[in-house]
Amino acid sequence: MNQITETPTNNHAYSSIFQGTGVEEFKKCIQHHLMSFQGRDPDRAGDQDVYRALSYALRDVLMEKWIKTQKTFYAGKMKRVYYLSLEFLVGRSLGNAIINMGLMDEVTQALEQLGYDLERLRECEEDAALGNGGLGRLASCFMDSIATMKIPAYGYGIRYDFGLFNQKIVDGYQVETPDSWLRLGSPWMYERTSFMYPVQFYGHVTATTDENGRYRARWTDTEIVMAMACDMLVPGFKNDHVINMRLWRAKASRELDLRFFNAGNYITAVENKVKSETISKVLYPSDDISEGQELRLKQQYFFVAATFQDILRRYRKDNDTFDDFPNQVAVQLNDTHPAIAIPELMRLLLDIEGLGWELAWNICVKTFAYTNHTLMPEALETWPVDMLGRVLPRHLEIIYEINRRFLEEVALCYPGNLRKIQEMSLIDEGPVRRVRMANLAIVGSHSVNGVAALHTELLKNYLFRNFHEMYPDRINSKTNGITPRRWLLKCNQELSGLIGDKIGYDWVVDLDRLRDLETYCDDPAFHQRWQAVKLVNKKRLAKIIAATCCIEVDPETLFDIQVKRIHEYKRQLLNVLHVIHFYQRLITRPEEAVTPRTIIFAGKAAPSYVKAKLIIKLINSVAAVVNNDPRVGSRLKVAFIPNYCVSLAERIIPAADLSEQISTAGTEASGTGNMKFALNGALTIGTLDGANIEIREEVGADNIFIFGMTAEEAEYEKKCKSRKPWQIYERNPEVREIIDAIAGGAFSNGDTELFRPLVNDLLSENDPYLLLLDLESYLQCQRLVGEVYADRATWIRRSILNVARMGKFSSDRTIKEYAEEIWGLKIDR
Ligand SMILES: *Cc1c(COP(=O)(O)O)cnc(C)c1O
Repeated sequence: MNQITETPTNNHAYSSIFQGTGVEEFKKCIQHHLMSFQGRDPDRAGDQDVYRALSYALRDVLMEKWIKTQKTFYAGKMKRVYYLSLEFLVGRSLGNAIINMGLMDEVTQALEQLGYDLERLRECEEDAALGNGGLGRLASCFMDSIATMKIPAYGYGIRYDFGLFNQKIVDGYQVETPDSWLRLGSPWMYERTSFMYPVQFYGHVTATTDENGRYRARWTDTEIVMAMACDMLVPGFKNDHVINMRLWRAKASRELDLRFFNAGNYITAVENKVKSETISKVLYPSDDISEGQELRLKQQYFFVAATFQDILRRYRKDNDTFDDFPNQVAVQLNDTHPAIAIPELMRLLLDIEGLGWELAWNICVKTFAYTNHTLMPEALETWPVDMLGRVLPRHLEIIYEINRRFLEEVALCYPGNLRKIQEMSLIDEGPVRRVRMANLAIVGSHSVNGVAALHTELLKNYLFRNFHEMYPDRINSKTNGITPRRWLLKCNQELSGLIGDKIGYDWVVDLDRLRDLETYCDDPAFHQRWQAVKLVNKKRLAKIIAATCCIEVDPETLFDIQVKRIHEYKRQLLNVLHVIHFYQRLITRPEEAVTPRTIIFAGKAAPSYVKAKLIIKLINSVAAVVNNDPRVGSRLKVAFIPNYCVSLAERIIPAADLSEQISTAGTEASGTGNMKFALNGALTIGTLDGANIEIREEVGADNIFIFGMTAEEAEYEKKCKSRKPWQIYERNPEVREIIDAIAGGAFSNGDTELFRPLVNDLLSENDPYLLLLDLESYLQCQRLVGEVYADRATWIRRSILNVARMGKFSSDRTIKEYAEEIWGLKIDR
């Protein structure tokens, strides 16, 4: 049976609905939902019907607990935390709800008796993919930790009709199709038709003077879109604490309806109604690239404006003045995407509440905190002043006034220093004047955090150097984490069971307890079971690869895996160069002993990112050649698994022997995929980038494969170009052979044009990602990986030690740091 259910902590502390009779009540509840709400005959219901009925049955319990949880917030007059994020990469909810609610036994038995299989029902659920990658998944891991640590908090975002696109591979190319995840409705979405707020756009600002002779702005003649609340509930781990993500959905306003319909043009009226609802239609599919479209700006303001009406509604229940606001409200901005919240709160305090500027500004700075997620210049958001002024005229005024006062402060600090003024201004005075959202977020927050130690140092020393000089206490580091509930307990039940057998299950809520595994790192019997678990996971993934890629892979080979968004800085292309090298060695020196490998890729490219899409084509082209070469056999197979998403990650990661984390040092802010792999027993091959550095510190340098330049060396090479790619190409015959194969059309049926853009980048001394400069070091390191894997006891020992030493990377630890050091909360555990 299922080991997860043997967890000792606080078992069966669930709702009254199921107390006592448990399984029987559960069956009744499922049947009730089937008949009353879905109109299905329980005897003839299919998997999809029962998946829904089961989910609704669980949601009933969650809702009861959520209401109780909310009451405790009000009763305790607790400070609330608001986590604002344009992305939540949730994945599936059913399995997570069952595990966190401690209902695995009851559900499994109830379904068995009704004649259904839980595994099959779980496959009926569409992923909620309301995010692109790491940033959105971090938000979801944080929700789980916040609930598990009983923190009074809410997530706020947008309920997109279409989440991240689905990816198909056609003839080796990525093809995008829409993700209509709500086609059949989601049982996890709780639509609150009674919670609607108006959000204004466009119009203009008129100035008046109030009875005290003070400037008052009125924002009038605006277009109004309504925001309707849709809640997704998030249960803590076996603690009865349930929080919610409130996701806003755009609805046409009645006023708009009346205005247009009364004008008599029925069709235009309907068109306008539809247009105003496009705001929450689709998630922007770019990761680490800023999108400058007006619709994106409107999405940002839409969710911020609705959120602040909700925040103020709650605050006013207990307060008559705003004096206590920063003691009652903390707002975390996940990247600059919600940074328009800063002028929005100023607008509310100045124009609606009538506060003076200094008081309002003090409240703002104490309330907001900003998390930076990237050093990549193309990801930094700026909005053309013209556009912002048209869509949000009052906000632009406020931004100008924030800037005016701020630049006065700068001028006082650095008299006569025009360069400082230019660099730090909230406005980029280029040919097109633009608002710099990062500068706005820094100036308007009391805390600015990076997401790993190296990332934070680079923020202090480069990107935000001026601000760090002026506000030395503002920038701080909060190394990312992942929730051990989803990323070990749920996704790797076999390994969780084995660990539980040895050291119990306290690690589920206290990941440092995994240290106790170190005792067994040289125990041969334990080694055998450890290896057996990995093999089970690899066999399961092999089946998925056979089904989705039509490639037969051998589960006994080393599974070498890189799954993440496709991006030049993440260097999937470097991985491909090793694949080609490995292939060429097999062909030219067949007598040499090698460790057979299965090299696996998955990941989506932004639809407009041409270079990233060409890299996908190259991976598939190399795979086609390698997999069909009879000289290779099962010593090397290459697979690109389509449509990477959370539920697929949960299948792929537990099957990995080797985790590829090979970004150019200084480009990956933290990474969280790296943590998921190591927690599931994969060894990492990686650069000294992001959280890889801290993973090395924790697991020990002997238990990780590190290669390549440091961030400092990479920075130096980008500037001084002391080593040139073409010199490496000419000097090293192995490198030459790899590049020549691509350039000569070996993977494109002789076509020498197809991959030329990639070859040109590789050989260019302006390649910002420095692939050839790290290639020799990478190839050498990969050779070492193969040798160590051949010594199975050493490999398994290192695998056990990796898992045992991953405690730091629980998002519970991260959230505790945010709570205590940024949000001003006290946490007991
Ligand atoms: C964790 C995760 C990511 C982030 O992976 P990185 O390797 O840190 O870029 C992206 N997508 C999904 C689906 C994830 O689960």
